[in-house]
Amino acid sequence: MDVAENLKEIEENMRKACVKSNRNFDEITIIGVTKYVTIERAEETIDAGIKNLGENRNEGFLEKYEKIGNKASWHFIGTLQSRKVKDVINKIDYLHSLDRKSLAKEVNKRTEKPVNCFVQVNVSGEESKHGLAHGGVLPFIEELEKFPNIRVVGLMTMAPHIDDREEIRGVFRQLAELRGQIKEKNYKHAPCEYLSMGMSNDYDIAIEEGATHIRIGSKLVGS
Ligand SMILES: *Cc1c(COP(=O)(O)O)cnc(C)c1O
Repeated sequence: MDVAENLKEIEENMRKACVKSNRNFDEITIIGVTKYVTIERAEETIDAGIKNLGENRNEGFLEKYEKIGNKASWHFIGTLQSRKVKDVINKIDYLHSLDRKSLAKEVNKRTEKPVNCFVQVNVSGEESKHGLAHGGVLPFIEELEKFPNIRVVGLMTMAPHIDDREEIRGVFRQLAELRGQIKEKNYKHAPCEYLSMGMSNDYDIAIEEGATHIRIGSKLVGS
């Protein structure tokens, strides 16, 4: 299937989810996750109209960035090792995986301009997942105030790999509630307007629960 056809189907489902939840289609950004595919396929994704691409590893990102550059906005969605921050931080537009102080410190030090970050939250508490526990998020965000180059634009989570759609919905709802609590604080360094949640199998639920950024790999570009 070409990317344009896949995108058409995804957009139809997005519109349905928007109608169901009384939301505006235009407030949702699709991040095309190209980690499984070739540079050519990533270029096809851009040609299909996707302006935001996501990569989860330094090597994969740098390889595509070299060819595609700023024809796309780049979202780093994977775990970022502190020692590798300097290789990517001045090339990406958004970091979706800020989850520890040591990483914030390194990002703050290595970047040439403020970085738009999502704080990653492990809502479901699965041991295999990265991200802060629910209760750790607010204190962490408060601590980030001392890093002038960190701007917390939102929260990010990954739902557990389960079939129970209501349980997945519960995870997304908790993240949305937490975002609300943070927004209410009106932190200057943490406007926290965005919610990065929803992937190929659950983006419709994520939209119904308030996602502003959905990260779609396999159903959009293939795997
Ligand atoms: C791979 C990945 C995605 C996309 O996953 P699909 O299920 O293929 O849509 C989204 N977010 C993160 C953090 C990922 O690592």
